[in-house]
Amino acid sequence: MKIVVLDGYTLNPGDLNWNGIRQYGELTVHDRTDFSPDNVIKTIGDADIVFTNKTPIPKSVLEKSPSVKYIGVLATGHNVVDTIAAKELGIIVTNIPTYGTSAVAQFTFALLLELCHHTGYHSEAVKNGDWTKSADFCFWNYPLIELAGKNMGLIGFGRIGQATAKIAQAFGLNVLAFDSYQNPALVNDTCRYVSLDELLENSDIISLHCPLSDSTKGIINKNTISRMKNGVMIINTSRGPLVDEQDLCDALNSGKVSGAAVDVVSAEPIAASNPLLKAKNCIITPHIAWAPKESRTRLMKIAVENLAAFAAGKPVNIVNL
Ligand code: NAD
Repeated sequence: MKIVVLDGYTLNPGDLNWNGIRQYGELTVHDRTDFSPDNVIKTIGDADIVFTNKTPIPKSVLEKSPSVKYIGVLATGHNVVDTIAAKELGIIVTNIPTYGTSAVAQFTFALLLELCHHTGYHSEAVKNGDWTKSADFCFWNYPLIELAGKNMGLIGFGRIGQATAKIAQAFGLNVLAFDSYQNPALVNDTCRYVSLDELLENSDIISLHCPLSDSTKGIINKNTISRMKNGVMIINTSRGPLVDEQDLCDALNSGKVSGAAVDVVSAEPIAASNPLLKAKNCIITPHIAWAPKESRTRLMKIAVENLAAFAAGKPVNIVNL
């Protein structure tokens, strides 16, 4: 069996190994692959098995890669593959559902706490001499925000949403969850399901944890922002296109949204023209919520297990059933 990894560097920049996958065939690992369809087709060649993290595999690539039988997405979000076309062509596509739940929930709070305290900024200000020169025993240059008692709205209440809710509740936040699927067992004194309207109108913080799909693309836009509380904070650790970035930028600059923190943007790496780069009080991190070594080790292990299950004729974690 020929196996090709299209973009292995971010999963394994050198601190893990590919031996688990290598035992299933002749393996070629590319650190990265140019996204042009012609180049992706060439890189796939006559491989039976393809792994991709963020390299797009649209229908045009699938149609010209007749040897491919299995695509393993090295991530939870699988929007990079045209899964419907893959199904039509009899190609099984799997994802890694759970490797990063704790890491992404933790990172959501890293972003939220940075919005509340700007610890990085204040530490730099101290090192630049601002505290030495201060007339008082303390100073702060951003409003400092306490979370207890506020409402945190979670759009998407799956694995990461629920893990985020547990942390939120430990901080004394009330959780308002919006999801197309509801599990009554998750409701308690400080966590309830609400409609999207109710979430938008009552949340002090809104955090996105739904997948990118036709129904969620641009879910944060001029219209939905206008229904939010003045001064709301918005966090996106899910997928960039969930947010209309120009609309968010305008809302940040007008003060309607008091702060935003995004780990994902519409095009990655970020374009120099992305409006969020110049927006007021916007923290941007380079898609790192998933990337602690602990998570990546788990991801690699599950990728191997997915491939083993496929090779044994009993595939698991299929996303295009
Ligand atoms: P999950 O499948 O467990 O949960 C997603 C939830 O969203 C589900 O409960 C689903 O019912 C809900 N949902 C789907 N469509 C919806 C809609 N239109 N409206 C409301 N809710 C909807 O997935 P997860 O493990 O919690 O991951 C969530 C997302 O986080 C992934 O899709 C991925 O895009 C993103 N992610 C980002 C990183 C990162 O590094 N930044 C890492 C892992 C995952």
